[in-house]
Amino acid sequence: MKDCSPDAIHRSVNGEVYIGNSCIGCGNCQKNCPYGVIQLEVKKDYARRNLWQTLFGLPESSRSESAEPQGGHSKAVKCDMCKDIIAGPACVRSCPTGAAMRASPEDFLGLIR
Ligand code: SF4
Ligand code: SF4
Repeated sequence: MKDCSPDAIHRSVNGEVYIGNSCIGCGNCQKNCPYGVIQLEVKKDYARRNLWQTLFGLPESSRSESAEPQGGHSKAVKCDMCKDIIAGPACVRSCPTGAAMRASPEDFLGLIR
């Protein structure tokens, strides 16, 4: 996308569009996406949580105010079709009614005919 100065938006060989790590959170893609697909997510800085809290998701101790997330810069996020998950899209696998599915454009056109 030409408005993404760090060139963080990419398309994989299978067609999935994803946001790379060079995103600086400027918000241009979110503002310009006509479908509302891209959102800005504030990355939390958990660097001050101790190892056990981080590994096991334990609550921060009441003694440690520094364990609170410190905020951080925003990053653009969007569905990337779970492109790196071999088992396939997590939403498809977890949908109890089978309503979520992934189909190629050709298959999709066949389904709606
Ligand atoms: S928010 Fe990130 S991905 Fe979106 S245009 Fe800005 S740098 Fe690029
Ligand atoms: S779980 Fe579904 S909606 Fe979420 S990234 Fe994966 S494919 Fe996209």
